[in-house]
Order: sequence, then C-alpha cells, then structure tokens
Amino acid sequence: MTLYEQFGIQPVINLWGTATQYGGPLLSPDVAEAMAEAGQHCARPEDIQAAASRYLTKLSGAEAGYITCGTFSGLMLGAAACLAKLDLKRMEQLPDTSGMPNEFILSRYQRCGWDRAIRAAGGRIVEVGVNERLIGAARGVEAWEYEEAITEKTVALVFIGFSWNARIREEVEKLVALGERHALPVLLDAASAATPLTNLRQIVESGVALASFSGGKGLRGPQNSGFILGKKELIASAALQHLDMVGSPTAWTPPAELIPSGAVAHQPRQGIGRGMKVSKETMMGLLVRIKNVAEHGLEEENAAMDAKLTRIADTLRDLPDLELVLFNRSADGGGETPTMELRLGKGYRAGGICTALKKGSPSICVNEKKIPENIITITAMNLPDTLLESVQSRLRRVLLEAHAG
Ligand SMILES: *Cc1c(COP(=O)(O)O)cnc(C)c1O
Repeated sequence: MTLYEQFGIQPVINLWGTATQYGGPLLSPDVAEAMAEAGQHCARPEDIQAAASRYLTKLSGAEAGYITCGTFSGLMLGAAACLAKLDLKRMEQLPDTSGMPNEFILSRYQRCGWDRAIRAAGGRIVEVGVNERLIGAARGVEAWEYEEAITEKTVALVFIGFSWNARIREEVEKLVALGERHALPVLLDAASAATPLTNLRQIVESGVALASFSGGKGLRGPQNSGFILGKKELIASAALQHLDMVGSPTAWTPPAELIPSGAVAHQPRQGIGRGMKVSKETMMGLLVRIKNVAEHGLEEENAAMDAKLTRIADTLRDLPDLELVLFNRSADGGGETPTMELRLGKGYRAGGICTALKKGSPSICVNEKKIPENIITITAMNLPDTLLESVQSRLRRVLLEAHAG
C-alpha cells in the first residue's frame, strides 16, 4: 500500500508530464536526496538566496537571480518589484496601488490565467491589439499598439512567453527595444523555458528586465520551485518583499550581493511575497537539480523516456485507425521531454478515452489539450519501469474497447 493509499488517496499515473493538476513530475532521485540532506541543517534563507544568485548569474549572465516557489510567484514578485522598486512606502502599501503607477501592458493574445499574478501584486492589465485569430488574420499585435498604450501610469511591458524559440526571441527583443525608448522594463513569463539551460543566457541577452521560470517543469526540480533572473534592483526589491522580516532590525544583515547596503534606509515589514516562502529543502533541491542538469545534461533521462514511449508505441501499433507520432526524439537531438501523440481516427472519441483512462485502475492521466483535434498526448516522464507494462496493457485495452469498429 502506498503512503497515499494509507490516507485513502488514489494515486494517479501522470502521463501528461509536468501538469500540476495531476501532481507535477515525480521527484528525481538527485532532488529527493538533496532535499532530505538540506533538511538536516539550518541556514538563513537570504544566505541560500545569495548563493543561488551567485550560481544563477554565472550560469546565465544575469545581474542577479532568486529562487521562488514557481513561475506564478516569480511573476507576482517581479510585478511587485516593478511597482515598488526600492520604495519602502510602496512596498508597505501593495497590493493597494492607489497613487502610484500601476499599469502593465499585455497583448490581448496573451491574456491568460497566469496574468493573475500581476493583478495579485496590485497591477492593472492594459490590453493591446485586436485578437483576430478567429478570422485567421496573420497580423499579431504590433509595436505601435504597445507604444500608444504607454502613459505616465505604465509600469512595465509584459510578455507571456511560455517557451523559448527564435520567433519568441524576436518578438521579445522588439518589446525590449520599445521599452528602452520609454525607460520601461519588460517582464517575461518564461515558465517552460528553463530547459535546455542554454535558453537562460539567450533570455538574459534579449534584454528583459526580469524573467520568471518554473523549476518543476522540464527541469524536474521540486514541483513548487522556480526562479527569477533579472536586474539587480528588481531582484533586490523582490527579495525585500519576500524574505521574512520579523527579526530585530539591529540583527538585520542581508547579504550585500542580494540587497546592496544602503538600498533601503530601513528594514521593511513583511512584504506581499511573504505567503510564497520557499523552504531551504526546496531551494537546495532546485539548486542541486540545476547544477546536475548543467553538468550532465538531460540526454540520458530523455533517452530513457524515449525508449519507454517506443515500447508503448510497439504495443499499440497494430490498432486500427490510429497514428502514433513521436516528438523530441533523442535521435533527433532531443533537448526537450519526448512526447507521443496518439492521433485518433474517426472510430475514436478522445474525450471518452481520457475519461475511461482516468476512471480505471491504475488511473492514467494524459495531456488533454488536443482533445478537440481527437489527439491524446503522453510523456513517459513519470512512468517508472515497474508500471510500464500495466500502462501498456491498459492503454491497449481502453483503445480497443473504445473503437467503434
Ligand atoms: C506552468 C506555467 C506557469 C506556472 O508555473 P508554476 O511554476 O506552476 O507557478 C506560468 N505561466 C505559464 C505560461 C505556464 O505554462
């Protein structure tokens, strides 16, 4: 009986991959070990953060770095930093932004649940552009549309990047150029862009003032971890609004590399980020994971996932009306988590199959994003060898039963 079952919880097999709604990825052994060891010693969070900043700046070329409990919290801290900078009165006032600039400009195409992070800090989203996807228009949001929205209340330009590639880079650089003309920072949601790690340097070089990454996605660090990279002043502001501040001011000695001495005249009170604290175990787990990935790469782990997907494909290949397509294969250079699409023919209903997989035992959860296209996507990220056979046979049985013939 698993620990979960002892408490009446039915564990699931998360073939989606990193999806939080199914528990995120399995903890990789190196992270589990690091977290257990970190829990055997105490250290000041600000000292761990200063070390993290040292490591992350060396890796990425950023001015500073800081560990958060995920992309959302990094964006919220980043927004709070853009709003308050090093102004103690403003820090104390957030998320109430009356009397201070509070507008964040965002493309209408990029409005999504994640911009809640900016609003939670007290920011107001100003939408620009016209969403013409519905009519198949080729025009995205253009630079002049961002520019026209800039007023004296503008705090930052926001870009929800999600991943990182040449097209996104080009768009971000255009926004950075515009921001520079108006002395405005660009805030980037780079949730899934932490792998490959070579992205980090490119993202910093693009000139964004602050980028927020998830540690629990392709990186497979602790599920509730992430980090931000950016300008020293913004990271200092984020730290001032995140670290615990109840201690006596006479004993308040934050490391100067994180919060330059004289950056603020007094020790702030608990900030808007205090509810998003990160444990020493999580911080050390993430640091060790980033170091391991930097030193050894993800090729071996990805190749093992690739091999498992191939074995699943082998047991499904003879099913009628089904096309199997593998992506990010190790043989093609990999770099990202291998995935497999089950492209279902007319005899199948993807939605019904997902429900049947979820309801049965073992409960299997798959990526449901392409259900409207009758496609189911899976990864082998969270599939230990011991479960491979039962997943293979259940996938086969459910598909056979679901096929209308
Ligand atoms: C996953 C995701 C987030 C949230 O990441 P967490 O680390 O879970 O907070 C934010 N933005 C985008 C675009 C994402 O894909």
